[in-house]
Amino acid sequence: MAELRQDPISGRWVILAPDRALRPHAEQVPLAFPVDADDPFAEGREAETPGELLAVREPGTLPDQPGWRVRVFPNKYPATTTTPITMPANGPFTVGAAAVGPHEVIVESPRFVRCLSELSVTAVEEVVWVYRERLRTHRRLRSAPYVMVFKNQGPASGATLAHAHAQLLGTPWIPPGMEAEYTQVARYFAETGRSLFDDWLQSERQARVRVVSDAAGYVVLCPYASRVSGETWIVPTNGPSRFEECDDFDLARFARVLRQTLQRLQQLIPMLPYNFAIHSAPYEREVPGYRWHLELIPRVGNIGGFEWGGGSYVNALPPEAAAAQLQAMPITG
Ligand SMILES: [Zn+2]
Repeated sequence: MAELRQDPISGRWVILAPDRALRPHAEQVPLAFPVDADDPFAEGREAETPGELLAVREPGTLPDQPGWRVRVFPNKYPATTTTPITMPANGPFTVGAAAVGPHEVIVESPRFVRCLSELSVTAVEEVVWVYRERLRTHRRLRSAPYVMVFKNQGPASGATLAHAHAQLLGTPWIPPGMEAEYTQVARYFAETGRSLFDDWLQSERQARVRVVSDAAGYVVLCPYASRVSGETWIVPTNGPSRFEECDDFDLARFARVLRQTLQRLQQLIPMLPYNFAIHSAPYEREVPGYRWHLELIPRVGNIGGFEWGGGSYVNALPPEAAAAQLQAMPITG
């Protein structure tokens, strides 16, 4: 039986239709990139990328030279521009300005790995430290009203290179999906004086049917109104509204939980392609009750014409089943 579910944080509706999982080849996993794929993100090929903006390096090594562990540079093929220009309005096609904002690539390992879960805990700590540093830098520079760190992993996710990397994109507007969350959370706070995240997490922790793990200050869960099979969120039990406001302790614990969660997903479906995005409050606006979190969506062929055409989702795998499967997966610490 198909069921309608609404996500409390975004207000988004989803159709949960378990019968659709019975379709032939319903959950076919796309192929990963070939192992011998060209790897311009590898250590030693720094000259092939734009000059670095930040790197975690061995002492004594020089920028744009080998010796780095995490390396950030501007995207060679940016979706945005860093040069403000005024563009004329043209009838209904109102264009006030160029799409100004940073677009950066964060290469997460000097050697070839496909997924962060293949790195050590210390290496993942350095990666999330870099996410935080770049978000802090753009806040200080006032580069854009909203800057998002996200990841495309695998050919089905929109990634064009296999080597593990994240991206950071700043936009001159606040993305509508984020606005929807801020509206819900702010309204709840105005009505109750409480954080929607607190109340929502409390009920999920009591029910324990969608929780994958709950330790070290983070709840990992498959949300009630999961858009796709295996959608997984990492939510701090008591975190700041913005990711860049995490302290070092929060960050180290987050690195461990993120790595474990990716391990579980990759154990369940090896080479799983996925997207994740860090959701955070905007730089210059307070959203009472809001809390940063990470949303991960496996890309196993669930986004079709209805989803694309209407912006609503039909999901075949109940999040309760997905959570149970993920919980059963072994992790290496
Ligand atoms: Zn969110």
